[in-house]
Amino acid sequence: FNNLRTVSVASGSIVTPANYGQERTNSASANTNFFIREALAELEYPGKLQRLLLTPEREVLVELVITKDNGEIETFNAYRVQHSNSRGPYKGGLRYHPQVDLDDIRSLASLMTWKTAVMDIPFGGAKGGVAVDPKTLSERELEKLTRKLVQALKDVVGPTADIPAPDMNTSAQEMAWFFDEYSKFSGFSPAVVTGKPVNLHGSHGREAATGRGTVFATRELLRATGAGQIADKTFVIQGFGNVGAWAAEIFQDMGGKVLAVSDAFGAIYNEQGLNVKGLRKHMAEGKPLKEFPEGEAIDPKTILSTPCDVLVPAAIGNVIDAATAELIDAKYVVEAANGPTTPEGDAVLRKRGITVLPDIYTNGGGVTVSFFEWVQNLQNFRWEEDEVNKRLDRVMTESFGHIWEIAQQKKLPLRTAAFVKALQSVTRAHLHRGFD
Ligand code: GLU
Repeated sequence: FNNLRTVSVASGSIVTPANYGQERTNSASANTNFFIREALAELEYPGKLQRLLLTPEREVLVELVITKDNGEIETFNAYRVQHSNSRGPYKGGLRYHPQVDLDDIRSLASLMTWKTAVMDIPFGGAKGGVAVDPKTLSERELEKLTRKLVQALKDVVGPTADIPAPDMNTSAQEMAWFFDEYSKFSGFSPAVVTGKPVNLHGSHGREAATGRGTVFATRELLRATGAGQIADKTFVIQGFGNVGAWAAEIFQDMGGKVLAVSDAFGAIYNEQGLNVKGLRKHMAEGKPLKEFPEGEAIDPKTILSTPCDVLVPAAIGNVIDAATAELIDAKYVVEAANGPTTPEGDAVLRKRGITVLPDIYTNGGGVTVSFFEWVQNLQNFRWEEDEVNKRLDRVMTESFGHIWEIAQQKKLPLRTAAFVKALQSVTRAHLHRGFD
């Protein structure tokens, strides 16, 4: 008891950080803002409007405390950054990762604003996270942590205010706890989070949506560039979490050859193409990826330089810097991860003529099907999986068309074109709504 009294617990308090509204240089949010500014250079917006677009509307920092299974207490820093709600309620995932910090979440929240605008779905942008390595917690401890997060954020989230979703190391289970805990305060509210289990107000097709959307996005890119089809291409995928594993499986279903995949602990290669379904089964049995018998283990550091047609980063951010970009041996980089390429890395890829399909479009299938889930929740209705996938395909295809057109007209890289489209859409919403 004495021990507990010496610990200062600020659980649930909302703090405005000292550097609120300021930009740090050399950071994740500065990288994101670099790309936004490239697009702003194409648009003649006044300085104050640019500042509004570049900075978040609200940042929430909380300290979460839980009692561990062994009786000791543990505290964790958690964040929710709400970047923009000009086009609709704040929307974006919750990430559990030891490297999570405020600047990282700030950058990811901003990316969500541009992503929902590029996909043309009626949401704004937000992101949240807890600085925790979930592998060090038991299931019971993770549940407590998630419930504490809801208790801390319940005043700023809600079905028409801010709608979280899964992200790195969070899944349908965390969303079920989130929905349950929030409903204790606000009554039955499935629409407060998306990515819930299918048997608990989730949507068919949501789990696979980011990976499936990545495949549709790649198909459109190959079609537009006249490069052919997924069936004649080879793929290398960094990351075998929800996004990477589904993308790999669907690339293979469409006849593509997945040569290599990696996770945080290893990488596996097969020149004939990996048996992705077999690999997923192997991993579901709790076995390490690199021990998959139908392939050869390779050094995970070489995954990004493995020769292929299409390289798919589907893990953490900032992995393609200038040095890595020099080593990439692919014609296309398809950004299934959020923020995988630094501005310096991007410059090298451009110089080398490697086409980059940007994150704010490529991985937008996840939040698109989150929107479908939210709509189903509000209607108390369920769509068939086939309908979800068809609608997803339509959104990915139409959105690609808009980005491609801007890129051709203005002679811009696809990333800059996507940001131009997003900035125009968010700005139009601001101007229509007014500022007073
Ligand atoms: N975490 C996903 C992303 O980065 C999905 C967000 C959502 O569905 O709200 O896009």
